[in-house]
Amino acid sequence: MPWECGKGWWPMIEKAAAAIDSFNVANPENPIEVSQIKQKFGGLRIYCYNAPEDIRQLIDEAVAASWHTCEKCGSTTGVITNLEGYRLTLCPACRKEIKPRVISKRKIIITR
Ligand SMILES: [Zn+2]
Repeated sequence: MPWECGKGWWPMIEKAAAAIDSFNVANPENPIEVSQIKQKFGGLRIYCYNAPEDIRQLIDEAVAASWHTCEKCGSTTGVITNLEGYRLTLCPACRKEIKPRVISKRKIIITR
């Protein structure tokens, strides 16, 4: 299953993924099903079914940490989620490399 987010978040996901893997090895008849791991609106999303409380907590921790961790490089310094145009959680250095979405400069001329 692809992890549809930047490498900066992979270490956080790995912790939950390792717990899910070992749960599934121990419970092959009733495994946790992970349907999607992705970035949405600047935060990490992990969709899964059948996760027990302790693993759900690990997932919640990863999701909560994503809001304070640069999705690209994993830095936790000066990380903010940009709410204009592109919505990404990045550190200042990675933010510089990403160009904001181009907004049309065309003006609407109203004639009467
Ligand atoms: Zn970064």
